[in-house]
Amino acid sequence: TPVTAARFPEPRVAPQIARSADHHLEIEAVTKDFGHQQVLKGINLSVARGGTTAIVGPSGSGKTTLLRLIAGFEAPGTGRILLDGREVAGRSWVPAHRRSIGYVAQDGALFPHLSVGQNIAFGLDRDRFRGRKAVQTRVLELLEMVALDGSYARRRPHQLSGGQQQRIALARAMACEPEIMLLDEPFSALDAGLRVATRRAIGKVLAHAGVTTILVTHDQGEALSFADQVAVMRGGRLAQIGNPFVVYTRPADRATAEFLGDAV
Ligand code: ADP
Repeated sequence: TPVTAARFPEPRVAPQIARSADHHLEIEAVTKDFGHQQVLKGINLSVARGGTTAIVGPSGSGKTTLLRLIAGFEAPGTGRILLDGREVAGRSWVPAHRRSIGYVAQDGALFPHLSVGQNIAFGLDRDRFRGRKAVQTRVLELLEMVALDGSYARRRPHQLSGGQQQRIALARAMACEPEIMLLDEPFSALDAGLRVATRRAIGKVLAHAGVTTILVTHDQGEALSFADQVAVMRGGRLAQIGNPFVVYTRPADRATAEFLGDAV
């Protein structure tokens, strides 16, 4: 009940992050309600250009909701989301594919009735890549980027392993030449060995392209090894933000310590 909740306020460890010209993405005091439930309770987060941020936290803490707001699938209740210092909320909200934001979901969400090549070509700007030859050349480049040879272009998604499907999903997202890539638990459906290999492959592609990356995961180890900034969410708030070493060695509170303690 509200009375009990008021007696036990959330720990006051909300991070203070200085504004900087180099911040690609800034989230300022963002809230989100679903009905009577406040799912995000005032999120402040800055992501550097070309940086990799992992949003980690238990199931139901609001990670996916935050990612969906950044993607533009939904608008925040209050607060602002800025890209390159420009607000992109409310009525001026532009869908992800028009703002050079890429999105890779948990299961890749490839179109099952299209070939791999057609899936990748889906994201291409057809004003720039006119004609079959130009499209084909670009598709092969994108396949090569995710370390798959040209023979994969003719296959169907169901003929690929889970890890290959995720690499194709990344290639399709990269076809739009995004400045920001949002990864929503993209490795969680893969078995342990494949997960590490796929994570390394995808991390390499994004780092090489200098794409600002935000990874949502419930896997602490994954967050600590993938990102240069880790944001720990709990109950719709950010319990801590910092580089992986600091978050792991100096957790802000006991719950974070216990959560991260499962990582190794
Ligand atoms: P996480 O990704 O950390 O598991 P989510 O962002 O998916 O957390 O969900 C946070 C909370 O918001 C959950 O309690 C969930 O049930 C609720 N929620 C998420 N999306 C919706 C929605 N579209 N309508 C109602 N409740 C939602």
